[in-house]
Amino acid sequence: MLTTKIQHPSHPLHQLKLERSLVPYICDGCKELGFETCYQCQICNFHLHKECAIPSSSFYHRFFKGCEFKFYEESPRLGVRVCDGCWRDVRGFVYQCSHKKAYDLQPPCAKLPKTLAGEGVKLELKENIKSKCLKCQSRSNSNKGPKGWSYVSSCGKYCFHVACVKEMFYEAWEMGYFDQQKSDLDANTSGLAVALQRTVPSTLSSSTEIVQQSGGKAKHYWNMVASVLRLILFAIFGDPITAFTTLIVALIQSLATN
Ligand SMILES: [Zn+2]
Ligand SMILES: [Zn+2]
Ligand SMILES: [Zn+2]
Ligand SMILES: [Zn+2]
Ligand SMILES: [Zn+2]
Repeated sequence: MLTTKIQHPSHPLHQLKLERSLVPYICDGCKELGFETCYQCQICNFHLHKECAIPSSSFYHRFFKGCEFKFYEESPRLGVRVCDGCWRDVRGFVYQCSHKKAYDLQPPCAKLPKTLAGEGVKLELKENIKSKCLKCQSRSNSNKGPKGWSYVSSCGKYCFHVACVKEMFYEAWEMGYFDQQKSDLDANTSGLAVALQRTVPSTLSSSTEIVQQSGGKAKHYWNMVASVLRLILFAIFGDPITAFTTLIVALIQSLATN
């Protein structure tokens, strides 16, 4: 059971409350995007992932044999550090092992589940993949360089780098994708949000058409891709979120036309 109110050293002014966030936020701990329930101070617009607010002081991860990871508010090592899970730059809270060639994990990545199951598909988190990632069309051990972990279906057909799913989510966020829901509420419609309100529905209907018009086999394929994306997004960003439903359709559209 999570405590609903905490005092956190990184925000000494006010208590942080465990609350839902209706739009994505940047975690003030690890500086990565988050969504849904987190520890926040609404007065200061301060947010922490659950994993960043209450980290483990130390732990072992099954992918790094013999590495004891310790939590740091910033990397004790100088220079650019990269999260070995999602391959994004470490810019804040991090777990790091003490070896000379140290590994880094952002707190939310450290907690990514080993397996995800639902909607007739089972996914496993892997360090190396034999299948191609459906977003970037590469394998993590290709000459493009490693990309961190991937979720792969048990049949091997459906595979995404965690890095690639995060990237798709960041792109949608930067395009103001989530602003349209907010702008409906506060009527503070920026030009971008207005533009998206016009473009997104047509994008959605045309991608639904892709799924509907395609034959049974292709339809099954895209439905599976949607299920896989949904499971991975839930694993990265938290609780099932209705906002993902339309986002996933838009992502499918971009994958289908690539
Ligand atoms: Zn965080
Ligand atoms: Zn505050
Ligand atoms: Zn190590
Ligand atoms: Zn990461
Ligand atoms: Zn990829």
